[in-house]
This record gives sequence, structure tokens and C-alpha cells, in this order.
Amino acid sequence: NPAVTLSLRLIPYSDDLWLLVARDVSRLLQLEQMRRDFVANVSHELRTPLTVVHGYLDMLDPSEHPDWAPMLAEMQRQSQRMTQLVEDLLMLSRLESQDSLPGEETVAMAPMLSTLKREAAALSQGRHEITVEDSAGVDLWGSNKELHSAFSNLVGNAIRYTPAGGSIRVRFRPEAHGRGVVLEVADSGYGIPPAHLPRITERFYRVSTSRSRESGGTGLGLSIVKHVLNLHQARLEISSEVGRGSTFSCHFGAERVRRRDDFALSEAL
Ligand code: ADP
Repeated sequence: NPAVTLSLRLIPYSDDLWLLVARDVSRLLQLEQMRRDFVANVSHELRTPLTVVHGYLDMLDPSEHPDWAPMLAEMQRQSQRMTQLVEDLLMLSRLESQDSLPGEETVAMAPMLSTLKREAAALSQGRHEITVEDSAGVDLWGSNKELHSAFSNLVGNAIRYTPAGGSIRVRFRPEAHGRGVVLEVADSGYGIPPAHLPRITERFYRVSTSRSRESGGTGLGLSIVKHVLNLHQARLEISSEVGRGSTFSCHFGAERVRRRDDFALSEAL
């Protein structure tokens, strides 16, 4: 069979002997591909009926049937959730099927941060203290749409998992060593118990299902973040303390940085 994929592993056996273990993973990869195709096809097929349902729901005027108003509002909320879920599934299957980003460009972070600030304000509706620092002259090399989606998911989570009165801070800082940069989204929210951290970026993995559902999440946000960062050869670091808050840091290597003017100053201090 010409399409055999082997997974090779070298294991130390004794002082001067190594074992080479070869495993045929072709079937596993094939099944994984089938799963991805299935999810992508189903999501794609759900798009049109959902658009129709959503469209007609929008046309129904609750003032004509006041006793229907709460039901209509709930149906609208749920159809919006379903639409978001389908969009997230489509995005995730697109990200999973790519080895590299198709269109890369210099992405200016100043307008990106302004957009995030607007989105955060709309989501928080005045319930949190939101600080978005200026871009420190940072521009990144990558995909605008994907980067926006990743950062927007992190900011959305920060707001959704921080009770009213809490604070959220978004900023770029220089990497401790080298010429890389870090985008940090920090919140003073619920925090994540350490036992959950290793699995938190898995699809549909949630610390508290009820809280996540209530907050309107799809369970795919951090999975999308991880894939977007992988495609940018960037790394996600999470530090969190229950009851005190979480910090999500996206580490971009020097090769992804197109500009970082102002850091020269802060590093010198
Ligand atoms: P969801 O749509 O459920 O938010 P995500 O993939 O974005 O899905 O996040 C996975 C889980 O990680 C969430 O359900 C939540 O339990 C936890 N989580 C994510 N971000 C935060 C945060 N900033 N603070 C506390 N918990 C978080």
C-alpha cells in the first residue's frame, strides 16, 4: 500500500541498544480525516436552514403577541447560539485541515486592539473595568481574520468568566528573552482549577458546563485559539488562580514580529 503512514519512536533499551518501534497509523489518520469531513459537512449543511429560521424569527413582532415575547426572545437567543456554534465548528475544521496559513500579511495591532476594545465594551455592557493598552508599535506577520478570532475569543472569555465589578486587561509586552512579543489577556475572574488546565483547550472541554452554557459559549473558543496560534508557530500559556483570575498569554516568536517600536524604550528601563 503506497499510502502507509508510520509513527516511529526510539526507546532506550540498554546502555548501547535502542529499540525502534514503528506503528502503522494510516487507519487512525484516515478516521481522523473522516471525522473532520463529517463535522465540516454537517456544519455547512446546517448553515442555510439556520439562516432561514433566524431570518423569520427576526421578522416576528413580539408587540403583536405580547404573551409570546419571552418565547420569541428565547428562540432568538438559542438560534443565535446555534449559528455561533456552526460558525465555530466550520472555522475549527478549516483550521484543522491546514498545515499553514494561506494568506499571510503584516497585521497592524493598533486597529486590532481598538476593535477588541469595542467588542469587549459591547459584551461587558459596563459591568467590568476594561483596560486595553496601546499596541506598543507592534505589528505581526500572519492572518488578520484568524488572529482576530483568537484574541476575540480570549477577551470574550475574560468577560464571560469574570463577575460584574471585576477587571480585564489586554496588552502587548516584550518576550523576556529575544525579540518576540506576548499578547496578554488578564482577568480578575473565577479562575481555573489546576487539574483542568491541561485539557482546557480541547474541543467542548469545560470546567463548569452550566456556567459556560449560561455565559453563551460554544465550548470551542480555546480550541480555535490553540489552532490559530499553532498556525502562527505561537504558544499559549495560561496561568490561573481560583477566585483571583486568569492570564492567557500568546507568545509570538521574533520571526512573527514585523515591528515593535516602543519596546526598545521599555526594555531599556
Ligand atoms: P466556552 O465556550 O465554554 O467558553 P472555551 O473553549 O472558550 O469554551 O473555554 C473552555 C472552558 O475554559 C470554559 O468553559 C471555561 O470553563 C474555561 N475558561 C476559559 N476562559 C476562562 C477564563 N478567562 N476564566 C475562567 N475560566 C475560563
